[in-house]
Amino acid sequence: MAVIYSNYLKSVIKLNFLLTHYKRRKYQDMQNRPTIIGILGGGQLGRMLAQAASSFNVELRVLDSDPTCPCSTLVPRCTNQSFRDEAAVYNFGKDCDVITIEIEDVSVPALKRLAAEGKLVIPAPEIIEVIQDKGLQKQFLQSNEIASAPFRLVDSPANAFDQDTQYPIVVKLRRGGYDGRGVVVAKTELEAKNSFNKPCVVEECVEISKEIAVIVARNSNAEVRVYDPVEMLVNSDANLVDLLSAPAEISIEQTETAKNLAIQVAQKINLVGLLAIEMFVTKSGEILVNEMAPRPHNTGHHTIEACACSQYEQLTRVLLGLPLGDTALKQPAVMLNILGQPGCAGPANWSGLDEVLSLSNVHLHVYGKTDTKPFRKMGHVTILDQDLTKALEKAKFVRSKLKVIA
Ligand code: ADP
Repeated sequence: MAVIYSNYLKSVIKLNFLLTHYKRRKYQDMQNRPTIIGILGGGQLGRMLAQAASSFNVELRVLDSDPTCPCSTLVPRCTNQSFRDEAAVYNFGKDCDVITIEIEDVSVPALKRLAAEGKLVIPAPEIIEVIQDKGLQKQFLQSNEIASAPFRLVDSPANAFDQDTQYPIVVKLRRGGYDGRGVVVAKTELEAKNSFNKPCVVEECVEISKEIAVIVARNSNAEVRVYDPVEMLVNSDANLVDLLSAPAEISIEQTETAKNLAIQVAQKINLVGLLAIEMFVTKSGEILVNEMAPRPHNTGHHTIEACACSQYEQLTRVLLGLPLGDTALKQPAVMLNILGQPGCAGPANWSGLDEVLSLSNVHLHVYGKTDTKPFRKMGHVTILDQDLTKALEKAKFVRSKLKVIA
């Protein structure tokens, strides 16, 4: 079954890639007028994409049901309807030249219709479909012999465990989980059975030494560029990336393995667009793919200041059919996610801005969310320094001063 599905998937993805090639002719038509880029989702990733894209000859449009979304103050044409709604996505997309995403939880049927009618949809709807389901992601990795944690799929955890199971075991919702919501590391049979009551991926618990991420870009000419791996520190209270440092402190061989894995995945899935790949470095030094996102990613925020071409400009280049940019890391960097303070909900109030902004090589990004809530991503700070240790020290200071309260 998995083999049949995988062959089907490969042919669909191949067909889509050929179609994208064919659609390149459209880029020529777009050369003498602004290209209309439609972004599904108006969150911070869409906002930073809009910031980068606005250096090119484009007209930006956003679909997001929230009239106060982070894109709303930057992009004049925001349509306030749901990106999960088929009719809304179709109607929004049919007047754009190219449609992309900043979140993968979008209507795939609408995107398939648009692609079938000749619209450029980047990434391909079939890729989004695979990524939306962690079960399909794992099957894709397995059938392409890309190293990842051993797994099985279950309809519901309730009757999928017994005392012979090795605990701890990781149970993940196939659909709808994000930022750690939808992942349970179960220590006992009872915890595993009570984790969820929906279809899940059950994974062996990996002995993780480090969590890293690699972003890869591929355009419709099959040109590929990959960023250096970054290291993620997860906030265990919020289950969110708290701090990220670049480059990851792993061996040269591990860096090469991680980058090659990312390129391999991009080629196997026939990517046109951007793909962020989260990986585990195991205690025995192996590198395993954890999960993927076919869009700009939190683990690439630092590329705005730290890399020759940011992930957001890179995606813009793919959308416009242009050559890819240089991914070189100009300087080591640390990125801090600024989350809403626990216990605070209501109109956002930033404290500590003066102290933080008086530092050199410290770059603040405020996402423009009017209300804060505990652990909501409100902004981020990127700190550059030739010496990563010094950047980490500065990050500690920033963390102690900068707060978003209500
Ligand atoms: P999400 O999509 O919600 O971010 P992830 O699959 O990235 O979910 O899992 C969240 C976190 O759970 C990971 O960053 C990692 O710390 C831990 N985790 C996930 N899978 C495993 C695993 N197989 N073994 C050990 N820890 C895991």
